[in-house]
Amino acid sequence: MSLDYTSLLLAVGFSAACLSLTLFGMWLTARSERFLLTWAISLVFVVGDIFIYDAYIDMPGRLLGIATLAFLLLGFSTMLGAAYQFRTGGSPMPRMAIASAISLVVTLPPMALGYDGLGFMFENAFAALLLFATALEYWKGRDEAPALTIGITALYSATATSFALCAMVLAWDGKLILGHAPSNWAEELSLIIVIASMTGIGALSLALNQGRLARHHRHNALTDPLTGLLNRRALFDLHGDAPIGAFTAVVVFDLDSFKAINDEFGHAAGDEVLRMFARDLAGNLRPADVAARMGGEEFALVLKRTLPETVEATAEAIRAAFAARRIETETGSLTCTVSAGFALGTKEGLSFDKVLSAADKALYAAKRGGRNRVTASAFRRAG
Ligand code: GH3
Ligand code: MG
Ligand code: MG
Repeated sequence: MSLDYTSLLLAVGFSAACLSLTLFGMWLTARSERFLLTWAISLVFVVGDIFIYDAYIDMPGRLLGIATLAFLLLGFSTMLGAAYQFRTGGSPMPRMAIASAISLVVTLPPMALGYDGLGFMFENAFAALLLFATALEYWKGRDEAPALTIGITALYSATATSFALCAMVLAWDGKLILGHAPSNWAEELSLIIVIASMTGIGALSLALNQGRLARHHRHNALTDPLTGLLNRRALFDLHGDAPIGAFTAVVVFDLDSFKAINDEFGHAAGDEVLRMFARDLAGNLRPADVAARMGGEEFALVLKRTLPETVEATAEAIRAAFAARRIETETGSLTCTVSAGFALGTKEGLSFDKVLSAADKALYAAKRGGRNRVTASAFRRAG
């Protein structure tokens, strides 16, 4: 069975319509992913273009000609907006507005004046530019997931190249007036490339978005929402399995008489104190160090490649800075102190659990000793 151009064109129209519906359905279940809606709308324009173009092939007339050019260029301008929105999270509108305004202003007048050859040449040239610009958006965002984004970039570029070829063939022929839809080898090649690319772009883009959502959920599962620090689970994910050597330390902090602060100044003020302490902790880290909120008003630091004296000095600096800080809250200004205990691993390696509970014991010793102090674990010398 041999397929003619029109059947292939309609097949592209139907599959673009299905992709648009799929994207719309996905947007309904994840409304924050607004680019899905923008992309679905761009495909509505493209589908509109395909069916109008099909009618134009049978009945070449100015109105249908203008409509087919307008729908394609609006569709590709919106697609560029969607790609930008996906990459940056920003509004797609400025790019959509500028790209469609420029391309329509250049392309529609020749078509309206009866120079359909010129109109189609400009249409193909702008389609190529818009698709290259879309490819460039994915290229700029390639760090997120290199294999997928480079694949998408390649497919958009291939489609863009096929439209550029259509424009070149029309320019080479040099006919300002055609009187019918362009029909040449480049048009046929372009249609085949569009069929192949659309499926690939659809599948790769959805995989890219799923990957992004999965990373987002993972990030949320490992982050404490109040302070932005890692949570207890994240700390165990990072350090729970490997033995802790003699040059790695765990410091645990517990804010002093924090219940009283909540009682006197209110829970919101308490939250502000927690955020402030988290900022102090994070501000004192070297790149390899890790800070986490273990729960409530308890925090932990894991310091790598360090010595007991340095651990003590670091914890002491954090304690002293926090104690000296006046914290402004909506219900008044207050001061708060923190107690800390720390432990190091051993030459043979200790489990993270053991070092953490040794640091905890030291913390309780600090509390018993009067609070607002740093205490070393007995393990400090055991290593
Ligand atoms: P200590 O010096 O012995 O540590 O006394 P404390 O009052 O700090 O200890 P306690 O364990 O009795 O109280 C901890 C309080 O921390 C109780 C709880 O309401 C409060 N808390 C836990 N999580 C949060 C939070 O997310 N926000 C606020 N504002 N308070 C919290
Ligand atoms: Mg506590
Ligand atoms: Mg406490």
